[in-house]
Amino acid sequence: MARLDAEMLDQILTTLREYAEKNIPPSKLLEIELGHDFPEKVMKDIYDPGQIGLHLLTIPEEFGGLGGGAYDIYRVSEAMASIDLGIATGVLATFLGTDPINVGATPEQKAAWLGDLAEHGHFYAYGATEPQAGSDLGALSTTAVPVEEGGRVVGYRISGRKQWISNGGVADRYTILANAPGGPSWFLVEKGAEGFTTGKPEDKHGIRASNTAALFLENVYVPADRLIGLAEGKGLAQAQAVFGYTRLMVAAFGLGAGWEALRRAVRYSQERVQGGGPLSQKQGYTHKLLVPNAVRLEAARAYIEWVAERLDAGEDDLATEGAVAKYLATEAGNKAAEDAIQALGGYGYTREYMVEKIKRDVRITTIYEGTSEIMEWTIARDRWQLHLKSRGQYYVDWAARAEKRQAQSPNVGAGLAAMALRSIGALLERARLDRLTRNQHVLFRLGELIAYAETAALFAERAAAAPTTASGLEETTLAAMARVHAREACLKVATEGLRWAVGAGQTDPALKEQLHLDAAVAAQAGLVEDMDAIARDLVRAFPAK
Ligand SMILES: Cc1cc2nc3c(=O)[nH]c(=O)nc-3n(C[C@H](O)[C@H](O)[C@H](O)COP(=O)(O)OP(=O)(O)OC[C@H]3O[C@@H](n4cnc5c(N)ncnc54)[C@H](O)[C@@H]3O)c2cc1C
Repeated sequence: MARLDAEMLDQILTTLREYAEKNIPPSKLLEIELGHDFPEKVMKDIYDPGQIGLHLLTIPEEFGGLGGGAYDIYRVSEAMASIDLGIATGVLATFLGTDPINVGATPEQKAAWLGDLAEHGHFYAYGATEPQAGSDLGALSTTAVPVEEGGRVVGYRISGRKQWISNGGVADRYTILANAPGGPSWFLVEKGAEGFTTGKPEDKHGIRASNTAALFLENVYVPADRLIGLAEGKGLAQAQAVFGYTRLMVAAFGLGAGWEALRRAVRYSQERVQGGGPLSQKQGYTHKLLVPNAVRLEAARAYIEWVAERLDAGEDDLATEGAVAKYLATEAGNKAAEDAIQALGGYGYTREYMVEKIKRDVRITTIYEGTSEIMEWTIARDRWQLHLKSRGQYYVDWAARAEKRQAQSPNVGAGLAAMALRSIGALLERARLDRLTRNQHVLFRLGELIAYAETAALFAERAAAAPTTASGLEETTLAAMARVHAREACLKVATEGLRWAVGAGQTDPALKEQLHLDAAVAAQAGLVEDMDAIARDLVRAFPAK
């Protein structure tokens, strides 16, 4: 997949930032969310090619778009989320709504629908979830009954209800997942179609600038050429195929919102004097409320960038990697925002300082596009398969690659990441032999530990070979962060791996050694010094205004 040139991407990010500074300062965002209004003018400006034209980002150039790739989507999603996650969700809904078209439509359908979108900047909505079909989309009950004329299918009548649909009450076009005789299939439905109505906006905990509504379809007729891809039964595969992208987008939302809260806390800590000095110089504050969040967010960024580059290189089967990225980035974003409230004390608990709003907003990222628990399950299930298929070699091989990196770059924690990966391999094997994953909780915990071990390896690799330019931090800081994250990963795999394996009745008396517990404890040497360095660079990178 193509990628924008760096100059073009920078221009989009700058335009977005300048637009936000001028038109939606924090006071305006608070006003929008208090009124729970859908900011139609802002959304129209964002879609207006004369101003930003953001909907063009994912449309291929041949259909009048910019032809941006996954890396561009990640950067723009992060930037949008750092402005306002509700508005970002409205834009995401259009990307999401057109994804079934991007992955499944015929060339003629793409030309017609994406060309139309490029020209008119319609709002799209993506209608998958139903009242009884959330995490389990297989429980879908919306139906698409074929209408035949002269023995030929000329159209479908769609009936059912969709729940929690972003842009649900304001979209012009809807992609709707429904059961046709050949299986779940995506259809394009237009606003105003007979029998199609939408519910009132949901009164939500956060992202109150986004419109979320139920959809009601009663015998809604769509011509047969609105069946995406013109073949029934491909809907779930198409939904699966878009996950690599959409989970990456939501991962970038967690990153953007989490970093925005954290930047606010870092700046505040330099101005707020307590106990005879600024909070930014108090280790008990920085090493609890700031540094661990910066580390987790940057570990997630390293993984996001890796997934984005692979998608842009043409790989399309990255749903598991998308799940790791989404899981860690959104959990990290949520925790960063929670800690930012604490870091601002009483001020953090008031609306004016914005971190309270960010916390409520970012909460959704661990729920939509697959909950954190579903991510844990997806990661564990898919990597379990790889472990079995490779006869236990998958993480052994990955650990060997990390050890090679350690030999070349001894400063990024790659050796500790290798230890975490080896321990994961040993844990999966023990789980196989003792049938531990018959306990669902053990399987889900494995998902979490795998995510930590894999991000540790990726963070180390990228801190050495491809340090990000997107975070504003020094390369030496990224290396220190990679070390801190790798320390956490190897200790977490050892202690929590042991906890749940023993808790579920594992039988190996030497499992502690297999999970390198003593070495993982010894690896904590130097941790506080690294955290000191990270705290200093946060202050340098995000000075008080
Ligand atoms: C603001 C908002 C916007 C949204 N936008 C859209 C949209 O545009 N389009 C769309 O199609 N959907 C959208 N959704 C729906 C969203 O994707 C779902 O809410 C989400 O997938 C979870 O489904 P659910 O709400 O039915 O929860 P459930 O699936 O009922 O989950 C409830 C809890 O149970 C856990 N759980 C579920 N299954 C299992 C299991 N097998 N084992 C263990 N634990 C489990 C979950 O992790 C969660 O903690 C949106 C939701 C919200 C709130």
